[in-house]
Amino acid sequence: MNAVLRTPELPLDLRGRPLRDLRLSVIEACNFRCGYCMPADKVPDDYGLEAASRLSFDQIEVLVRSFARVGVNKLRLTGGEPLLRKRLPELVERLARIPGIDDLAMTTNGSLLARHAQALHDAGLRRITISLDALEPARFAEMSGGRGQIDAVLAGIDAARAAGFSSLKLNCVVQRGVNEDQVLPLVEHFRGSGHVLRFIEFMDVGTCNGWQSGQVVSSATLRDRVHARWPLHALDAHYRGEVAERHAFDDGAGEIGFVSSVTAPFCGDCHRARVSADGQLYTCLFSGAGSDLRPALGQGETALAEHLAGLWSRRGDRYSEIRGQAAQPPRKRVEMFLIGG
Ligand code: SAM
Ligand code: SF4
Ligand code: SF4
Repeated sequence: MNAVLRTPELPLDLRGRPLRDLRLSVIEACNFRCGYCMPADKVPDDYGLEAASRLSFDQIEVLVRSFARVGVNKLRLTGGEPLLRKRLPELVERLARIPGIDDLAMTTNGSLLARHAQALHDAGLRRITISLDALEPARFAEMSGGRGQIDAVLAGIDAARAAGFSSLKLNCVVQRGVNEDQVLPLVEHFRGSGHVLRFIEFMDVGTCNGWQSGQVVSSATLRDRVHARWPLHALDAHYRGEVAERHAFDDGAGEIGFVSSVTAPFCGDCHRARVSADGQLYTCLFSGAGSDLRPALGQGETALAEHLAGLWSRRGDRYSEIRGQAAQPPRKRVEMFLIGG
């Protein structure tokens, strides 16, 4: 690990959880309109294309240095669609050099990856997660709100491998009656490829997707379906707090994961903070409001680190553990496309 000037006492939140992981949105705009995130009938075409309110690269660098001082060692760039942010490799290069950031990753819809993969790898990005909900071309197009083409994403995956990203993660959100039938074809396609496919339970994030519990296909159901076709055995987690339950194919064709955000919440090990492109901190995916970091950011790295330590020490979030409890009032919630998953 690179040497990093940590604050003397790394903060723990009200439930004893340290801050380890930062998801940083670099842009609020997206070129897709996935129905579970940013549906076209709720979010206008030109949404988020006004760049003025976004943190600059200089501000982002100070922000990440401050987070590293309060314990963050994993950084994931996200969006919106992060590849829409201009000069992203330049930002990656600056962030990859920050002491304490041992793991720099990005989540993308992959549509623009073919043209950017090499520059991102050269800049120091080492891990990429690509969202991929269907293989069948018409279904893929429909699920991206009529904006995406599966061939572009598959080309992005190939380009990423050629650029040096040896193993990618591929995330598929499964919705009952929408893309359940894509699960086995996706497994068949990526088994043995060295990439790791992960199935994610559809979540009630944001206010736009009209989520109902009946639309969730549980990880247990999916695991049984995959296991019936290609037998699996469970693997140990790489580290405490890993969100995906890992399984390997008995025949040696690699590994697969299941993220059970709804049926087996993992709030107890949630070490994540999220920051939107305009510098709002959200301590939970289901937060109603963010906390504006820009005033403290304006005072520099040390002031921001102290401010972050204070905010984190007052955190008590555990939404997924209490989801579904009776008599919860309707809640205001941050949109997924603002904080990036
Ligand atoms: N645009 C990029 C992408 O799609 O990978 C990054 C941002 S996107 C908000 C990050 C992740 O959130 C994606 O993998 C997407 O599938 C996931 N996501 C969005 N809405 C979701 C929901 N309602 N339930 C589960 N995952 C969701
Ligand atoms: Fe865009 Fe990603 Fe949301 Fe889809 S999931 S609309 S690609 S931000
Ligand atoms: Fe973390 Fe909030 Fe998700 Fe729980 S509900 S795992 S606290 S982001």
